[in-house]
Amino acid sequence: MSDPQQSSDTVFGAIVRGEIPAEIVYEDDDCIAFRDLNPQAPVHVLVIPRIAVSGLQEADQADPALLGHLMQAAQTVARQEGLDASGWRVVVNVGEAAGQTVPHLHLHVLGGRALTWPPG
Ligand code: AMP
Repeated sequence: MSDPQQSSDTVFGAIVRGEIPAEIVYEDDDCIAFRDLNPQAPVHVLVIPRIAVSGLQEADQADPALLGHLMQAAQTVARQEGLDASGWRVVVNVGEAAGQTVPHLHLHVLGGRALTWPPG
């Protein structure tokens, strides 16, 4: 189950509430997208739900429409950032071993350079 208290207490919860600054590139009623502080590609934007969902480890308890909406927001961001022609990648790290450091669901939208596979 989503834990609004826990996730709203993360740095991303603070960004949603406007308590700390972020370079927001897209927002709507359900999500916001802002530039990553430590970009791993020329375009590196994080798409997050406004409500607290700790990550895809809770996908079965999240609103499927919201999860789909986040994917569509990622497409909107990629298009807005001019990545349509070159291609782009969405990454969601789930849990510690995968590199998740912030327990508030976020989609990394990466592009602007060739992206290798497999990821590290
Ligand atoms: P993850 O490691 O998948 O949990 O991704 C967390 C991401 O959040 C990292 O890429 C960080 O660089 C980024 N990040 C952490 N704090 C901020 C912040 N205040 N503003 C923008 N990005 C942040």
